[in-house]
Parts: sequence; structure tokens; C-alpha cells
Amino acid sequence: MRVYNFSAGPCQFPLEVLKNIQKDFTNYKQTGMSVMEMSHRSKPYDDINNEAIALLRELLNINDSYEIFFLQGGASEQFLTIPLNLLGDGVADYAVTGYFSKKAYQTAKNAFKDQINLICSSENNNFTKLPSLEEHKPSKNSKYFYITSNNTVFGLRYNEFPKVDCPLICDMSSDIASAVVDINQFDIVYAGAQKNLGAAGVTVVIIKRELIEKSNPHLLCVPTQNYKSVLAAKGIFNTPSTLSVYTLLENMKYLKSIGGVAAIEKINRQKSKLIYDYIDSTDFYINNTAVENRSLTNVVFKTRSLELDKKFIKQAEENNLISLKGHNKAGGMRASMYNGMPLEGAQALLSFMKKFEGENK
Ligand SMILES: *Cc1c(COP(=O)(O)O)cnc(C)c1O
Repeated sequence: MRVYNFSAGPCQFPLEVLKNIQKDFTNYKQTGMSVMEMSHRSKPYDDINNEAIALLRELLNINDSYEIFFLQGGASEQFLTIPLNLLGDGVADYAVTGYFSKKAYQTAKNAFKDQINLICSSENNNFTKLPSLEEHKPSKNSKYFYITSNNTVFGLRYNEFPKVDCPLICDMSSDIASAVVDINQFDIVYAGAQKNLGAAGVTVVIIKRELIEKSNPHLLCVPTQNYKSVLAAKGIFNTPSTLSVYTLLENMKYLKSIGGVAAIEKINRQKSKLIYDYIDSTDFYINNTAVENRSLTNVVFKTRSLELDKKFIKQAEENNLISLKGHNKAGGMRASMYNGMPLEGAQALLSFMKKFEGENK
């Protein structure tokens, strides 16, 4: 039996991808071993690494002026990695638009104090509406402007990004490859793989080569996170999370086979629309986020009482709809429907929501 997993991460995979991985697990392409037993300096692994990079480049339409690195430490590691690589003795600007962007800001602020500016924050409206980035321009000579495309915890998403005079850095952990976005408008896009791209253990960092070349990394920046030393090592400074890079590749092959990002965007829009339309049609479920900012990947909602929320989460689980509990900071429910969630999963959730409403009105 397989369940529908609405967890905010790690995500569920298409069954076909899991089966392909299983098929090759003990003997990958006649090498006589599993990918996880392979040297990261071997030819077969090198091919996996290069193919994964090439496929991401193709699927996300990333031009040749960018490097693509597979690092470890999760997306959270980049909260400090970015200022360590790019800040120098300058200043940088942050938009705090949700839970993870606040963490990124606080991490940088703790380490670099007055060099880190808060440009705007939506904390005072409890992250229910995104501030316009056009209205909040970064400061003069800023080393970078740091933003987060999708607010994973409160369920909001930017549909447009500002043109700024400094490098634009975007944490795209929860919506990368879920909808068509022009990556070439950013200087760095990074994402933990475990939401839309693959399994945990690899952070995809897409970065303009020029930005690395101009950077002056802090002495305390470890070489595994130092973009210059990673570039000098052609992306593989130390042992990468080889199995996770491989599973990402298999997942991206599948994405390509179904028509790529534009095709999955259509499905993601259908899935989220099913749930939002129903929430809007009834008083039983509540979603307080600004309609124009609604996330495609993380749909948050609640009922009128904490008890009913609890009951909903428990009964959903009994019906194989798991991990619908909202983040502790947000409460209520959250249906994370990343690329790996099929339309049938959203339909099953919708049926359950209707049934639960009928029984608990
Ligand atoms: C999940 C998430 C993170 C944290 O990712 P880890 O890989 O667990 O460190 C950071 N930013 C955003 C936007 C996220 O959704």
C-alpha cells in the first residue's frame, strides 16, 4: 500500500521513479555495484553528475553563464554560506516574507550585524500577504538582495521578481521546477532537493560564474561551501551525496518524460486550484492568505476550531492522507503538493475534505 504524503518535505516520488531506482539498485548499468558503493571520482559517477547538471540546465532553461553545484548541508546551510562568500566588507539586503526567509536573515544578522539590512517584512500581518518587492529596493552598493520565492510554512508565492542593480539571490527550495520561472533573472538560485527535485541530502546551487569569480570569501568559509574552491574542483570538492544526486537525476528524467516544467506546472495548478476553489466555496475551511499570493505547492487551511483541526489530521491519516498537520508556527493544516504528488492525491484530499465537512458541520 502507498499513501498520499502531503509532508512539506521530504516529498513523495512517482512510483515509476522508485521502481527504476529499485531495478538498478544492486547493479547499476552493469558496473556490478550500487551507485552508493561507487567512487565519486569514477567514470560512471561522473556521468551521473554531468547528466544531472545537463538535465537541470535543460529543464530549467539555465544558460551557460551559470554553474550548477550539488552541495550538502541542506538549504539551511546556504543561510550562512551566502554571506560568507559574498558579503566581504559590504552590506546586503533581506526580504523577510516567511519562516525560512526570517531564519536566513537572522543567521546572517547574527554573524554580520550592521552589514545585514532588513528591507521589508510581512511578519506584522502574520505572513498572510507578500510585500511588493518593486516597492522595496535594495540599498546602494548592496552586495546582494536576498529573497525567498515560496513561503513554505504560510503558503504564499511570488509570481514576479524585481529588477535590481545588485545580485539577486533566491531561495527556491519549495517551488523550484514546480512552475516555469526564468532562472536567468537571478544571480543565485538555490534549493534543497527534497521538495520538488528529489531526495534529501543535496542542495542545488545555481550560480553565475562571474559572481563566484568576483567573490572574496571569508576566511571562516569552509572549502566545501566556498563557491571558489568548489568551482576550482569542478563542482566536486569532496564526496557529494552521490545517491541523492542519482535519485535527483532519475526524478528529472521522469519530469522530462512527462513534458518538463510547463507540463508539471499545469498539473500543479490543477491540484492547488481544486483545494483553493473548495475552500473558497465553503465557510467550513478557512484560508487567510492574499489570493494573489497563494502558493501552488503549499496550500494552508484550517477549520474554526483547534479540536476540529486535530480530528481532521487524525482522520485524514486513517484514510492514507498523511502529514497534513500545519507547521507549528502556523497551526491548522497544510497540504504540500510538490511535483511528486499526482492529481489523484489532490482529488483524494478534496473528497476527504467534503466528507469531513459533512460529518462535522
Ligand atoms: C524546506 C526549506 C528550507 C530548509 O531546507 P533544509 O534542506 O531542510 O535546510 C529552506 N528554505 C525554504 C524556502 C524551505 O522550504
